[in-house]
Amino acid sequence: MFDDLRDLYQEVIFDHNRNPRNFRIIENADRKVEGFNPLCGDRLTLYLQMEGDVIADASFQGSGCAISTASVSLMTEIVKGKTEIEAEELFKKFHEMTTGKDENFNLEAIGKLAVLAGVREYPARVKCATLAWHTLDAALKNEQQAISTE
Ligand code: ZN
Repeated sequence: MFDDLRDLYQEVIFDHNRNPRNFRIIENADRKVEGFNPLCGDRLTLYLQMEGDVIADASFQGSGCAISTASVSLMTEIVKGKTEIEAEELFKKFHEMTTGKDENFNLEAIGKLAVLAGVREYPARVKCATLAWHTLDAALKNEQQAISTE
């Protein structure tokens, strides 16, 4: 990865950590799931408002490290307006990107989420980045149980 691109990615992560988007409670949310990453201590509660199979609104509360906060902040922005199937596809792509199993992963296909591609070089941080998505996955499957990455 080019250094200037890496700097840009870091700036986006810092920005989302400082000013998390959709950091609020949705009253009477259709889906509400808690996620916990014991390795790092990241905790979040994800709220979804559904309209049919479309995610009409997404928000979160909680506290965690910069990576987990930036990841959930970006995720709530990106999944809004997406169908459940589209959101699940993004989750799959995000998982492939962060676990780095595909050497030729197309970063352009994942848009803004590419800013978190760097975590694949730090295995301990992968769970920080994917916690939000595992929690979303549970929310979309309408599982009520809290999610733990361990
Ligand atoms: Zn973390």
